[in-house]
Amino acid sequence: MTAQHMQADADEVFATADGHLVVGTEPAAAWHDVSRHLATRLPQATLRNLVRVHGRDRVHPDGPDLTGVADTLIAHEIAHVIADQAGATFPRRWLAEAFANYALVTVLAETDLPGLQRVGTLAEAAMLLGDAAPCGGALDHPVGALDPVPSVLAHLALTRGVMAVYAHARSRPRARWFALARVEGQPQPDADHELGRMLARDVHPELGRLAARCEGWDAAQAKAA
Ligand SMILES: [Zn+2]
Repeated sequence: MTAQHMQADADEVFATADGHLVVGTEPAAAWHDVSRHLATRLPQATLRNLVRVHGRDRVHPDGPDLTGVADTLIAHEIAHVIADQAGATFPRRWLAEAFANYALVTVLAETDLPGLQRVGTLAEAAMLLGDAAPCGGALDHPVGALDPVPSVLAHLALTRGVMAVYAHARSRPRARWFALARVEGQPQPDADHELGRMLARDVHPELGRLAARCEGWDAAQAKAA
């Protein structure tokens, strides 16, 4: 677990360098900001559906209550700890995050279907924010560059991608990915498109598509800058 990771994920659950999990007793205030962000931008029908599934946020009653989602993220953090302790390495930070989100989706699918529905409805709804929402690759930007709301949106983009992998092939690609990440001295592609090809070939085609979307978003950002 790197200091980078701690800082970026220090919303409420994070792991320390020596592998201890730190869990807040109250969801971080930033979740209310995410709820407000969604409430002011999503189509009314989508918002109604989110509120039906999640309940109402207590600070912004128009938005969904994301406490339930926040509570499930411990599975994401445990996945980071397990991957780190097993010596797994990922060539991009967003890939380490995508892997942890894959683990989260798997755990919820196997143990907490209402929790999976909460994460899934949120990830689907965030897709409607369109190009304004950052893709997962945004998590590779220098620490501190991403505020909590874009960070959550980037995680939701990754979550949609890995949910598609899970829907196609359950947890088998995750096991392949874990094994691949544990190979010491593996050649790691420098270019994003090569990375995408490798993921598509060795893990799952949907993961290659996720990498391509990240690449496309980064290119658009660079053009806009
Ligand atoms: Zn993480």
